[in-house]
Amino acid sequence: MRFGYSETCLDHDTGDRHPETPDRLRAIREGLKRKHGVEYVDADPADVETVTAIHDDDYVEEFRSFCADGGGNWDPDTVAVERTWDAALQSAGLSAWAAERALAGDDDRSTPFALGRPPGHHAVVDDAMGFCFVNNVAVAAQHALENTDAESVAIVDWDVHHGNGTQDIFYEREDVFFCSTHEEGIYPGTGGTGETGTGDGEGATLNLPMPAGAGDAEFAAAFERAVEPAVEAFDPDLLLVSAGFDAHRHDPISRLRVSTDGYGVLTGRLRDLADRTGAALAFVLEGGYGLDVLAEGVAMVHEVFDGLDPVQPDGDIDEDVEELLTGVGSRHPLLTGI
Ligand code: ZN
Repeated sequence: MRFGYSETCLDHDTGDRHPETPDRLRAIREGLKRKHGVEYVDADPADVETVTAIHDDDYVEEFRSFCADGGGNWDPDTVAVERTWDAALQSAGLSAWAAERALAGDDDRSTPFALGRPPGHHAVVDDAMGFCFVNNVAVAAQHALENTDAESVAIVDWDVHHGNGTQDIFYEREDVFFCSTHEEGIYPGTGGTGETGTGDGEGATLNLPMPAGAGDAEFAAAFERAVEPAVEAFDPDLLLVSAGFDAHRHDPISRLRVSTDGYGVLTGRLRDLADRTGAALAFVLEGGYGLDVLAEGVAMVHEVFDGLDPVQPDGDIDEDVEELLTGVGSRHPLLTGI
């Protein structure tokens, strides 16, 4: 793969006890060290206008001056230092780069993956939250819509937390489809199946809250029966993946049980989905807090594009997930065709 990476993203220093640390990127780089075909590209940071295309001007200015004043705790979880402003613009820039490269035809072994931090998917239109200041994947989607021929974007968010910020930004939009799998009942508490968009955006949001314990077989079924048919019905020009690795069975903060091979299976499914729909495909890093499994997860995504065939799950799926998928399949506008 072609990884967007910049040392600037290491300068967002969250302190000794924070799970969202620069060591995450160091661990990913270490994990990719001996892999075949890894390429790094240091893209330009996003400019402020690219960020205010999705965030409120006042919020962006408040975030800039918060950092200029030395930073601190924006909220109990979300911390900044002076250099966080630069890291956030860089992280957004890497994400916009990934979308651009995908739309320019980079695919297969050149598929782009933006390795930025701070992460982005909790950042809403006018506020930072959940370790996120600038919604990187939303910046990428909007940047693509404004600056390329792309007229529609689908975002698939497999982070263990609901991508409430991304949903918020595009909730009333018909040109961006947002779809999230996440653990039910954990932070930030949003992402119920009834949240399907509003106004012009009705039907352009799909949420699949997974019960604790769900793993590879349940995720593969959720992709096959809900995520993929919905994206096919939406038929995007660009498919962006909000790729967090905190649903891994060994991640310290979740109770979902996706394995490293499971991430490979989902990657292969999304690659095939992009092929079927003719969409450009790019990945954007979100969460993942077990350093070893984060590194393994990113390396697995890379290896799938390098030709690896991951181990497919087998066995029956959990009853609650069966019920979830049956319910969503019979009610969601994109899946019922109504
Ligand atoms: Zn997360």
